[in-house]
Amino acid sequence: MAFIIDGKKISQDIKEELKEKVTAYKAGGVQITLAVIQVGKDPASCVYVGNKKKACEFIGIRSLAYELTEEATEEELLRLVKELNRREDVNGILVQLPLPKHINENLVIRTISPDKDVDGFHPQSVGALSIGQKGFVSCTPSGIIQLLKRSGIEIEGKECVIIGRSNIVGKPMALLLLRENGTVTICHSRTRNLKEVAKRGDILIVAIGKPKFINRDYIKEGAVVIDVGIHRDENNKLCGDVDFNDVIDKVSAITPVPGGVGPMTIAMLMYNCIDSIRLRQNPGSTEELEYPI
Ligand code: NAD
Repeated sequence: MAFIIDGKKISQDIKEELKEKVTAYKAGGVQITLAVIQVGKDPASCVYVGNKKKACEFIGIRSLAYELTEEATEEELLRLVKELNRREDVNGILVQLPLPKHINENLVIRTISPDKDVDGFHPQSVGALSIGQKGFVSCTPSGIIQLLKRSGIEIEGKECVIIGRSNIVGKPMALLLLRENGTVTICHSRTRNLKEVAKRGDILIVAIGKPKFINRDYIKEGAVVIDVGIHRDENNKLCGDVDFNDVIDKVSAITPVPGGVGPMTIAMLMYNCIDSIRLRQNPGSTEELEYPI
């Protein structure tokens, strides 16, 4: 019987732990504030922003919402980011992506101060991760590490295969698995013999962005499968990049969609907001981040 990794429960446990940390900070007179900027009214973004606000409320983080219209200029957005960079009372800045086409996303990400880059997308954060130094880590991959650890799944020495090389999931995922002493392979759209390569994975992480693409032919018997994808299927039901029903009797553990990776992303965003205090107290340190385990 496959073990179903319960992302909902694990993320709730993390949020409870973080709530205690925030309460302790508050008792010491420290308030943590996250500024969330949304440009336009993309329905999916509205849901994500709403969930982030709810998580802040639950944990005791103050959230500031900035809602710019779809027509807002790049200059206006950059001005707001710079103002929030300067504000002493703001610990984290999150610009909800995607941005409207007329705004240069990379420029906006680069403008966020690395000390407040709670999404972990700034080149300095990514660079720090790649050389094992202190900095924010992208929330979805760090959430996956938590899912594995808190489910008692060992990473050290395992063959870890990642399908997808995006900047927000695949690449940072590879660096984090490497840091946990996994043996890491990254696959992408030009990988040859994907099935054979995927089948090497004791741990297979799928972030490909194609509904139910991965079936049992890609899975090693007894593998742990982490499904990052999120889609609506032909019946409007949520599904992942993995064909859950097809692989379930071949895997030893798997994340469901919904209720697997998704809830972890917000929990780790909250973790980053709190960790911003530590980063700020000791800037430029080469100390690695601690993970809540
Ligand atoms: P992306 O589109 O940026 O990257 C997809 C990757 O898959 C690319 O690197 C590409 O090379 C690879 N790929 C595409 N087709 C392939 C093929 N046929 N064979 C092998 N590799 C192939 O996507 P992303 O941002 O990494 O997101 C991936 C999925 O995860 C999406 O469904 C996204 O919605 C979801 N996602 C979920 C969360 C969450 O919190 N649950 C967070 C981020 C992304």
